[in-house]
Amino acid sequence: MTPEEKSSLARFLDLAGDYLMDGHAKNRPNCFFEDDAPEEFSSLPLAYQVDEEEFSEYTQNPTPQRLASVLSSTGSFQNMADIAAAICACKACPLGATRTLAVPGEGVERPLVMVIGEGPGANEDASGRPFVGRAGQLLDKMLASIGLSREKNCYIANMVKCRPPGNRDPEPEEITACSPFLEQQITLLSPRLILCVGRVAAQNLLKTNNGINSLRGTFAEFRANSATENKPDNPAITNIEATEQTAIPVLCTFHPSALLMDESLKRPAWEDLKLLRAKIESLGEG
Ligand code: URA
Repeated sequence: MTPEEKSSLARFLDLAGDYLMDGHAKNRPNCFFEDDAPEEFSSLPLAYQVDEEEFSEYTQNPTPQRLASVLSSTGSFQNMADIAAAICACKACPLGATRTLAVPGEGVERPLVMVIGEGPGANEDASGRPFVGRAGQLLDKMLASIGLSREKNCYIANMVKCRPPGNRDPEPEEITACSPFLEQQITLLSPRLILCVGRVAAQNLLKTNNGINSLRGTFAEFRANSATENKPDNPAITNIEATEQTAIPVLCTFHPSALLMDESLKRPAWEDLKLLRAKIESLGEG
């Protein structure tokens, strides 16, 4: 099929869908077919929708910043599997070239608590799963002490989804390129609370230069887009669109790897966990 034929077919299907649903043509972003997609998008779902103008600027000048705008211009991923597929295909920053596996995140959908760390280490890079090394085992114990776990009521993700070589901090451009993924994860998961572990996650989520000692110990707020389910006449079609913002309480604490290196941080970290537990109870959860 030629590109023109594909484009006509896509427009015809969109138009037909609009008329069948409510009798009106909608203003839709363009889509591309999987076999035309640039390499970065090669494992994305078929007909992944992008903003035409953003996409054409990206193809002329494929910088990480432009890829980030293309990803944020999509407005909505339909589900966590689509986000994970986009993360695994991403080459928007240099970490995409050095990683073994990308680490999208894991846990339950609609979690009570979303835990956000800094970025994958060696064990996570090898397994594709977040927080599975020594720090991860300690994180699991900390969560379990207040009735939380990734199997039952948490989702665990990172600021950057690919390992910074040698476990260095992620660079600001790497965080910029990756943050649309985290934002879309927060929108879709819609956690009741966020627990940020470590300075890098805390500073970047809350957009501040304050140190972890001043950020921990009290709740802050993250204003997230909320995903509202728009079910048109055809119940088989579900669009999830970000329409309004919700304030999600955020608690920051020390990174478990800092606790492994400095025993004296364990007591204040425990105080933070008790605060989180009290907040969960005040929400009538747990
Ligand atoms: N440290 C992090 O911040 N994230 C991981 O996934 C593992 C270690």
